[in-house]
Amino acid sequence: MMAAVVLAAPVSIRAWGMDVHRFLTKRALDGLPSDVKPFFDARRDFIVEHSADPDLWRVVGLKSDLGDEDPNHFLDIDALDDVPPFTHVPHDWKAFVAKYGAERANKAGRLPWRAEEMYGRLVAAFRDMGRPNRSAYVADNARYISAVLAHYIEDAHVPFHAVQNYDGQETNQHGIHSRFETELVLRNLQTLKLTPVAVRPVGNVREFVFGAIVESQSLVADVLRADRLATEGRAVYDDGYYAAFGSRALPIAEKRLSDAASAVASVIVAAWTDAGKPALPAQESKSPARIRR
Ligand SMILES: [Zn+2]
Repeated sequence: MMAAVVLAAPVSIRAWGMDVHRFLTKRALDGLPSDVKPFFDARRDFIVEHSADPDLWRVVGLKSDLGDEDPNHFLDIDALDDVPPFTHVPHDWKAFVAKYGAERANKAGRLPWRAEEMYGRLVAAFRDMGRPNRSAYVADNARYISAVLAHYIEDAHVPFHAVQNYDGQETNQHGIHSRFETELVLRNLQTLKLTPVAVRPVGNVREFVFGAIVESQSLVADVLRADRLATEGRAVYDDGYYAAFGSRALPIAEKRLSDAASAVASVIVAAWTDAGKPALPAQESKSPARIRR
């Protein structure tokens, strides 16, 4: 009975489907520049698989210093008494809490700050890579944190991770979250028109994520409209619905998937650069451990 309750948790509500996370992370790794790519290629499957982990943490109700895992995956930027481009929303967590109160702040979401936290951990892990007597675990730590950071960066690019009406519940379009970000994408996975991954300067990662969220919010109205038009005269979400929905919504999904993969690659390169560009060998050298006496 308990297991059934856990499995019934609404994990699919606010997440690119796990398969979409894996797809995006794979794409980002394939687009990395040659000075870091072999390091990730050596454990590509491991990183791709773990980029879905943060959604599993929500299923089991994991908590961290900031609270429940769930709000780490979104920021409902339109729930904060401001209008686009939301310049009055504080970007500093303490100022954000001071303005809205802890309960409302946490309910709106913490995605930019969670991404910033993981970015800091990745920079630290890359710095450890540059130390002479590093332990054997350091390389996989850096890879694992890269996978987790990729997840949050990907989430920031989903329109429905940026708004209160995250599942169409306010406009009678229930289930739009997964129809757009999972079902539509998986139905078209083989024929998606994506732009090549481009590594760009990131600057401050928190600001970078805020920028992605503001852009995500700006796309919601068009996706909702596409859904409304596609449901007209239909009783079920069938192939015809997805064809009609996709005619307007698929280009938006393709743009966000393209942007997300480029953002993940950019953020990984930025963290490595901030760490002083340590050498990232594809394989750990296997010199035998010294016997301590
Ligand atoms: Zn997520």
